[in-house]
Amino acid sequence: MIQKIPQPVIDVLKALREASFEAFVVGGCVRDLLLECEPKDWDITTNAKPEEVQTLFPDSFYENEFGTVGVKVVPFLKDGKADREHDIVEVTTYRVESDYADKRRPNNVAFTHSLEEDLARRDFTINAIALSMDENDAPIIIDPFGGQEDLKKRIIRTVGVPDDRFNEDALRMMRAVRFYAKLRTTSKQAHLPGDPKYLGIYEPELDNWIIEQSTFKAIQKNAIHLTQVSFERIQAELSKIILSDSPAEGIDMLQKVKLLKYILPELEEGLGIGQNLHHIYQVYQHNILALKYCPSKKLDTRLAALLHDVGKPRTKRGDGYRSTFYNHDHVGARMSDIMLKRLRYPKAIVDKVALLVDNHLFYYNVDEVTEASVRRLVRRVGLENMPDLMDIRIADRLGSGTPKAKPYKLRHLEYMIDKVSKDAVSVKMLKINGKDLMSDLKLAPGPKIGAILDVLLSEVIEDAALNTREHLMNRAAQLDKEHLESLRSMAKEKIEEKRESDNQAIKKKYWVQ
Ligand code: ATP
Ligand code: MG
Repeated sequence: MIQKIPQPVIDVLKALREASFEAFVVGGCVRDLLLECEPKDWDITTNAKPEEVQTLFPDSFYENEFGTVGVKVVPFLKDGKADREHDIVEVTTYRVESDYADKRRPNNVAFTHSLEEDLARRDFTINAIALSMDENDAPIIIDPFGGQEDLKKRIIRTVGVPDDRFNEDALRMMRAVRFYAKLRTTSKQAHLPGDPKYLGIYEPELDNWIIEQSTFKAIQKNAIHLTQVSFERIQAELSKIILSDSPAEGIDMLQKVKLLKYILPELEEGLGIGQNLHHIYQVYQHNILALKYCPSKKLDTRLAALLHDVGKPRTKRGDGYRSTFYNHDHVGARMSDIMLKRLRYPKAIVDKVALLVDNHLFYYNVDEVTEASVRRLVRRVGLENMPDLMDIRIADRLGSGTPKAKPYKLRHLEYMIDKVSKDAVSVKMLKINGKDLMSDLKLAPGPKIGAILDVLLSEVIEDAALNTREHLMNRAAQLDKEHLESLRSMAKEKIEEKRESDNQAIKKKYWVQ
């Protein structure tokens, strides 16, 4: 086990000990070592005071008010190679926390001489194990709260009384769910719907990590205190859940422990909402299963899979097999925008998720769809976003529980996208531009130029062969005879008429009229 600790970390441990201090690796890295997975970062806990640590390691900096010193070390080698100048090992002085007035942060951080006290302030037993080695490099493990036993039994349990610990810091409740989602390994073994061995997501035998009962109940009891935590911190934990190996199980666990309504309450609107003949799952389950089967590892795409049908409960009309959900894509996109802004996600993520949700219903049938309609889709979504939109479609299909195994359709769409990828879908891609119109056709600068280009684009989207300089110049000369208003309505009509026919096709396919 000790051999798995990178040499630069061992060097820091030894240097502290040679200066007569105690020093241990602690927290997530020990947990991950014992689970035989690769630790992300290395934390050391010591009885040396921050100034003493800094004196010992001149190449270091005082990181925060909690007594953490970042020590720069030679990079940990990956496959014998380093891709950066240095790594940081965080060295934190043993400390206790007290006075959590606002359920968020300790009012006081006091240093202590006792490792046990430092371990006692940590969140979960599996995160409260310290590891070092003796002179012969044999491991020394300090584990006062039974963390190793819980690791073996796969139990997430608070150090101390759960109620007190969640009252001190409400974010710990989300951390419990994050570790639950992160440490589960089973989603990799789960069978897909359609497979005779498919078990759904709630099967206890697949659920190989549990949140210990009194910890679980204390989260339910204290869930409302999450409202005291900033959305930035909530967002960071949510993203880790979404990016874990079991994101669907994580979100479902948030629901079970009653935290979801303080994070993404709109998802709960789908609980108990049945769908129509295309689906066997209720809306809530379907959204979660789409996340489960989303092939992408990207945060924005996974979020879009989770939210793709969030607009359904508000747009449902009728009941049973013939119910409809007109416009749930657009309503869902607006809801996603509000939900993700509330969680303070950066604009790029908010916009991307809304775009994917808004367009997730694109119609695609191999024999019926024209190149022009694929160009319209690419124009709306952007060529660079098409692979992610396909991932949403795959997630939607696999998460529907009635899989229609038609991957060839998506392969065909990929082929079509490739085929039209060089075609003009924006004014910038036309073979002429505004300057040409002014210099060659002597058009006066003004809004008419833009309107003419818009009409040209709408025609080129219909027929890519029209995108030649010669044709466009002739056509522009003709269009110049029209009034500005009629040019504008020409472009608009073309786009709207086509959008309407695309919509009709979508409706025919997805809803019962
Ligand atoms: P990861 O692998 O995601 O980094 P981690 O367990 O290392 O997981 P960190 O957030 O890096 O998690 O925290 C390091 C350690 O600090 C934890 O293992 C835990 O012992 C302690 N800790 C972190 N946050 C809290 C908290 N809110 N309350 C109590 N202890 C905490
Ligand atoms: Mg960590």
